Amino acid sequence: MFNLDSLVRPNIRGMKPYSSARDEFQGEAQVMLDANENSLGSAGPERFNRYPDPQQRAVKAELAQLKGVAAKQIFLGNGSDEAIDLLVRLTCVPGQDSLLILPPTYGMYEVAANLNDVRVERLQLTPDFQLSPEIVAGVLASEAKLVWLCSPNNPSGNLLHAEAIEEILRGFRGLVVVDEAYADFAPAASWTTRLAEFPNLVVLQTFSKAWGLAGLRLGMAFASPEVIGYLNKIKPPYNISEATQQHALAALHDAPRFEELRRQLLTGRDWLAERLPALPIVAEVFPSDANFLLVRFKPDATALYDFLVGRGIIVRNRTTQPGCAGTLRLTVGTPQENELLLEALREFAG
Ligand SMILES: *Cc1c(COP(=O)(O)O)cnc(C)c1O
Repeated sequence: MFNLDSLVRPNIRGMKPYSSARDEFQGEAQVMLDANENSLGSAGPERFNRYPDPQQRAVKAELAQLKGVAAKQIFLGNGSDEAIDLLVRLTCVPGQDSLLILPPTYGMYEVAANLNDVRVERLQLTPDFQLSPEIVAGVLASEAKLVWLCSPNNPSGNLLHAEAIEEILRGFRGLVVVDEAYADFAPAASWTTRLAEFPNLVVLQTFSKAWGLAGLRLGMAFASPEVIGYLNKIKPPYNISEATQQHALAALHDAPRFEELRRQLLTGRDWLAERLPALPIVAEVFPSDANFLLVRFKPDATALYDFLVGRGIIVRNRTTQPGCAGTLRLTVGTPQENELLLEALREFAG
């Protein structure tokens, strides 16, 4: 039923990708005069005079081990945002096709749609930010080329029900993208473990959250070798810099630090989640499987937001998002930052 080639835009199916100097000759030679690089060296303190590996083989080899997938099932992007944009461009004909989002959710799906002149279909999540049988039926009835499932969901923080995601994977005709930016904080197996079962599944993860490398800009997509092949075909040839590849390798070799960061953030999340409900201004703390908490405040979340800004504390005002009236999204910080936040909230509460 799922046919990737018929889902891919005809111009992309037919196009010939750019073949870089590093694609045509791989390996070390004594004299490298094929890419118009500067053989003498680099300005600045470090040498970056050579183009990076366009396929990031060293990073993918490490990631393949860590994630239990094959290297040819991995795409690396300049942030997940690049993968999001490329997935839209791969499947959606501008001015003609649509993609499907389930608000409230991550804003970049819609931005990528607008940028590419792709129509956005919406099915709002339930009041507790879940998929329902009605929503699943709506997804399965859609002609959209892509559906975005953010799990754990941003801004609500919760995992989406696995059985509902599975139903969508079985019945939806387009690509099903499960955005797992926050998976490292969630008590559930990654959907990467189900890739062999679902040729229409794409899983997004990132180095920006639990790895603590948002400034590096490195995102991952996991899918069938066929989908990954198409993403590689349309990506900018050198989309991941040499500096990023080297730094990612160093991070992947530093698993204990990753584990410690992850654990500390979970402890901080639980610390905040335990204390917030006692405040009279807190109406609801939504359950979180991520490194943030969505909190509904009364009587006036935006007044609270402004008060916090005045105290030099910046949180995310989500009051205008569908189903999020009265909510602020609080990222878990250092223990000291968490205490400052709680103190400021207590002061506002009076
Ligand atoms: C933070 C976040 C990302 C990460 O994007 P990067 O471009 O990799 O930094 C992706 N998806 C969601 C839902 C996020 O919240």
